[in-house]
Amino acid sequence: MTPLLETDNVTYTYPNGPTALDGVSIRIEAGSKTALVGPNGAGKSTFLLMLNGMLRPTSGEIRFNGRPLAYDRRSLRELRRQVGFVFQNPDVQIIAPTVEADVAFGPVNLDLPPDAVRKAVQDALGCVGLRGYERRPPHHLSGGEKKRVAIAGILAMDPSVLVLDEPTNTLDPASSEEVMELLDELTSSGRTVLISTHDVELAYRWADSVILMERGGILARGSPGEVFSDHSLLASARLKPPALLDLYNELGLRGIIDRGAPPKSVLEFTDRIERTIHAHAPGCDTTGTIYLCDPDLTGGDGIRALLTGTGAIDHVGAMGTRAKEFAGREQIPLDFTYGVIDKCILKALIGENSLIITTGGMIEHARRRISDYNTGSGRKVTVTMVEEPDNTRLGRE
Ligand code: ADP
Repeated sequence: MTPLLETDNVTYTYPNGPTALDGVSIRIEAGSKTALVGPNGAGKSTFLLMLNGMLRPTSGEIRFNGRPLAYDRRSLRELRRQVGFVFQNPDVQIIAPTVEADVAFGPVNLDLPPDAVRKAVQDALGCVGLRGYERRPPHHLSGGEKKRVAIAGILAMDPSVLVLDEPTNTLDPASSEEVMELLDELTSSGRTVLISTHDVELAYRWADSVILMERGGILARGSPGEVFSDHSLLASARLKPPALLDLYNELGLRGIIDRGAPPKSVLEFTDRIERTIHAHAPGCDTTGTIYLCDPDLTGGDGIRALLTGTGAIDHVGAMGTRAKEFAGREQIPLDFTYGVIDKCILKALIGENSLIITTGGMIEHARRRISDYNTGSGRKVTVTMVEEPDNTRLGRE
């Protein structure tokens, strides 16, 4: 199959500057989540700027959908609609005095009629969870909100690929996780996402493919487990292995934990340890329940009644931008806003119950994730869909 984006032996030398790229060849498959990982100065930003034609290779070729990039005005305009670029610093990208005007900038430049511009802006703001921010001046927003405005500005042009340079660099941990979950939502709706980062923890958890760069070249590529298990390779790129993977490999080498596919999350890791322990001494298998509710069906009052009436729910999480917006609007306090499914499973494993507020396809995604967890672990975390408003109560399984 033809990769969506492909580069062949790309080199780039800045005018009066260093050779920033020295023969970079990669393939990016449609729908993939790729992290370009490397220390400062490795050439990541330079490389990403090539992908939507902002820089032109000194030599080598870049192909999008199998066709070599062309650098005339029309071709670049079409390429930039398809391959959206989100700068590391949102202040570089955000130029208009209101959020709405900023997000409208791309669609207006594409000469879309006013109705289509309005729809593109509303859809994009909905996607990043910023409806209601239309009139706000972007420069008064928080770092995480600015990053979302910048992403919305790109989404308004409906690109098939999003390229993000160090998307979490200046964000606090919760905003970082929320931006990464937003990127997950975008890939689950069929888009391709490519990020650069020097954060190995983030790349390990999030990416399905990692490209390790150093001094303008590629040192390694593969699954995060493969690339980040090679300590000498990481050391030569001045990086450390992800803590979770490092610990897992060390315990595996000592025969304390079974080897297999490396765990990507605290949940997977906890599970591996529990399984090893229980193989020697079977433990208690009482698990809590995870309740799923769709706020479009239950409404805010229904959820509040559930939380105050039953006393059966210990934790509440919201998954997806629409559910988080809803919880904010309805003033439903949330314990979990990212990594929600895993956190609720972890709570279920110690006998506590959680409610996940989520919408649309995410409900099926949550069910599947918990069911896959049960199948893989041999545990039985119960999932229950909360029923409709008139009789909102903890419904059937
Ligand atoms: P990374 O994104 O991995 O930190 P960069 O692509 O920013 O790496 O930089 C790669 C190399 O190119 C570095 O040596 C950097 O100093 C140089 N470089 C980056 N931008 C410019 C520029 N505008 N002019 C001259 N040199 C640059």
